[in-house]
Amino acid sequence: MSANCIFCKIIKNEIPSLKIYETSKTLAFMDIGPTAPGHALVIPKYHGAKLHNIPDEHLYEILPIAKRIALALDLAIESPEGEGYNVLQNNGRIAHQMVDHVHFHLIPKRDSTSGLVVGWPESEEGKAKIKEIHAKLEAAFKAVEESSPIKI
Ligand code: 5GP
Ligand code: ZN
Repeated sequence: MSANCIFCKIIKNEIPSLKIYETSKTLAFMDIGPTAPGHALVIPKYHGAKLHNIPDEHLYEILPIAKRIALALDLAIESPEGEGYNVLQNNGRIAHQMVDHVHFHLIPKRDSTSGLVVGWPESEEGKAKIKEIHAKLEAAFKAVEESSPIKI
């Protein structure tokens, strides 16, 4: 827990929130600034700014809980144009992260005017370097995995 973190304060009930579900490790609640009706957040109770700062055992529940909230949103929110949704998790200011406590956005996408607008420009540099980066990434991943083995 971090004393100055707004999401840690929500976990500790020091500031109010509209909670949806919680366990000893995970909390789901409504986003106070929704980009679409039903916009919700799922967070580990462990404080860490970026995904790689969170120990695996504090991440295992996140996707099963997010999945069930997505199903509940489909039941709870009207869907005039379909039942899509985006799961978004930002890391770092340059990647649009404003709250430095890991959070997964669940954003219903019901029509073209609300919800997440995704820009997907193709990177010429990315294309040109795809094989070179793949080789570096494979080696780097091995080093990461060796220092922090995945245990499931
Ligand atoms: P980020 O840009 O860091 O990925 O998203 C942070 C999210 O946290 C935003 O969607 C914002 O509306 C939400 N948020 C910020 N402060 C509060 C708060 O005090 N309560 C709740 N429920 N959501 C918050
Ligand atoms: Zn926190």
